[in-house]
Amino acid sequence: MQVCLDNQQMTDVVSTWKIQGQVIAFVPTMGGLHAGHLSLVHQAKANADKVVVSIFVNPTQFGENEDFDNYPNTLEQDLYELEACQVDAVFTPNKEHIYPDGFTSHLKAGSLSQGLCSNARPGHFDGVVQVVHRLFEIIAPDIAIFGQKDYQQLLVIKQMVAALSLPIQILSGAIVREQSGLAMSTRNQYLSIEQKQQALKLYQVLTELKQETLNGRNLATAIQDAKTILSQDFKIEYLSALDANTLKSITDNTSKIAILCAVFLGSTRLIDNIIFNQG
Ligand code: AMP
Repeated sequence: MQVCLDNQQMTDVVSTWKIQGQVIAFVPTMGGLHAGHLSLVHQAKANADKVVVSIFVNPTQFGENEDFDNYPNTLEQDLYELEACQVDAVFTPNKEHIYPDGFTSHLKAGSLSQGLCSNARPGHFDGVVQVVHRLFEIIAPDIAIFGQKDYQQLLVIKQMVAALSLPIQILSGAIVREQSGLAMSTRNQYLSIEQKQQALKLYQVLTELKQETLNGRNLATAIQDAKTILSQDFKIEYLSALDANTLKSITDNTSKIAILCAVFLGSTRLIDNIIFNQG
């Protein structure tokens, strides 16, 4: 496994592969790897000849009072895990490589970035599209894989790729969960044992909401009841049922529903979602 510390090393590796006609899949991460990230790596391996994983905690997608300074850094363990998965190259740039002096990006996230996470994290998706676009420029992958865990992010990236006609296929990976149902997240490290127990309720409530919807229960009422239940343990940022393709209100034309939530458990922000076909 090649560890590329700067842009030049990364582009050299990729150029050699391109000359050989190898198909390259890319998995961007912020490190603190867990089985969710590794599932994307396995998907990448199944779909390409060569796999690149980046580890970069992108400052521009964090708000002022967020956890950028304390974001878990487990680089040594991450590299060990990626080597075990037979990843071909890991890109671990620093901030100056991604945002060299004088670099400014005018790229703005598209319409799908509005609402949901953006309400509490204004500018977050602008930071996401800027870093992902920059990584795409350096790595020039054929395929890039993103988790459904960050569903709005996935749609925002797909929208960017379509709008800019980038020759990159975007694949999505299913949410990997703990046995308890809790969606795996680097931020779960912040949770105490007791909080992890409370956190299960999130997926239970999402699953019940899905079932109730399929049973024909009025979604607005079901969401209201779910909020009442969740508010016993969490501070709710949002809990919404939307058209999974447009992230707008559900209409008669909606074929796929997304129930999405962001909550705080103590000071830890958790997001989760469930996507299903309209019954
Ligand atoms: P992050 O390191 O949090 O930026 O995540 C890197 C990628 O891993 C993103 O595409 C996430 O959506 C994805 N990811 C994070 N958690 C999970 C999970 N539990 N299951 C599947 N993919 C995930």
